[in-house]
Amino acid sequence: MNIHEYQGKELLKAYGVAVLDGYVAWTPEEAVDAAKKLPGPVYVVKSQIHAGGRGAGKFKDDPNGKGGVRLAKSLDEVREAAAAMIGNTLITKQTGAAGRLVRRVYVEAGCDIKRELYLSLLIDRSVSEIVVMASTEGGMEIEEVAEHNPEKILRAPIDPASGISGFHARKLAFGLGLEGKQVGTFTKFLIAMYNAYTALDAAIIEINPLVVTGSGEIYALDAKVSFDDNALYRHPEIEALRDEGEEDPKELEANKYSLSYVALDGNIGCMVNGAGLAMATMDIIKLYGAEPANFLDVGGGATKERVTAAFKIILSDPNVEGILVNIFGGIMRCDVIAEGVIAAAREVSLSVPLVVRLEGTNVQLGKDIMAKSGLPIIPADNLADAAEKIVKAVKEAA
Ligand code: ADP
Ligand code: MG
Repeated sequence: MNIHEYQGKELLKAYGVAVLDGYVAWTPEEAVDAAKKLPGPVYVVKSQIHAGGRGAGKFKDDPNGKGGVRLAKSLDEVREAAAAMIGNTLITKQTGAAGRLVRRVYVEAGCDIKRELYLSLLIDRSVSEIVVMASTEGGMEIEEVAEHNPEKILRAPIDPASGISGFHARKLAFGLGLEGKQVGTFTKFLIAMYNAYTALDAAIIEINPLVVTGSGEIYALDAKVSFDDNALYRHPEIEALRDEGEEDPKELEANKYSLSYVALDGNIGCMVNGAGLAMATMDIIKLYGAEPANFLDVGGGATKERVTAAFKIILSDPNVEGILVNIFGGIMRCDVIAEGVIAAAREVSLSVPLVVRLEGTNVQLGKDIMAKSGLPIIPADNLADAAEKIVKAVKEAA
């Protein structure tokens, strides 16, 4: 789960991470009131959306205008900037062409930036450790640094059992070219950030840029904080920060039925039970030359209600040109699944090709039920056969 920059900063601040003062605002007037509480005379008005690249982004109604992060040198300029942002759609490298509607802005104290660095914490699953990533190349996307200047990314793995210590931080501080008092300041900053990361069950905390000011202080100027969904039950206070306006409506609907659904860009909708089988199904669709429209794990107890909900969610994606159902009947029997698929297909009056591959208990019975249903379901015998058939059916229908 993702949250807004201002929410992330508020959480980090409680753990002692240095952030500038700022206030969220929902209207231009509120933005002015927020600015009045700051020392001035320089303010920064920042669009709050769950996507980065806001500074370099453009508003849909003003493609040649300024971006989603603006400097304001007076209260009037704060009002003007907030009015230009709130209610308008911001398009950035991370939002896709559709952009995101800005509903609120963050008004923050202006900062005298001397250096822009990069600092993040995430989990490196390959070594089961938390890793700190740092770079002198702050302000730009880390993916680009990784591609063009990988040597400029410093990595420090941290064993979660022993936690972070001063030497991790000092080593990174020297690598970032910090000196004198800044080394101690950075050490305090990183340890506070690590404490926040572990206590909040975060998945990623990315500070880009981490700035060094003219007077040598260090601040988190941006904050991307996302959480491990599996740990949210321990943090109702974080769950309360969820902004449904920023989430894919299909994913929200899937959540209601405990379906694990992730929207993707392709044209073949997939309905599978088990995350591993779902991944394999997506892979084989690609192998046969098409792209999956989603990841979807209907789980072990795929009831008729859940299968129907899953069909509806898949079909609400306008890019879907065909559906591949790949279900292994282990605890669930294939005949029950077949009945669920048929009922769901009837209820949504299915209009795109549907390939169903069933395997497991009562598989023959399940296949017979589908064959007798009178619905144009294309049966498949194995995974490769299923992928080949759906890709072919979609091509023929086009
Ligand atoms: P994004 O990554 O979405 O573009 P940032 O919060 O990183 O948004 O802001 C983009 C740039 O705007 C920063 O790299 C920094 O140069 C500038 N900026 C952001 N906040 C401030 C601030 N409070 N004072 C001065 N400059 C800022
Ligand atoms: Mg940023």
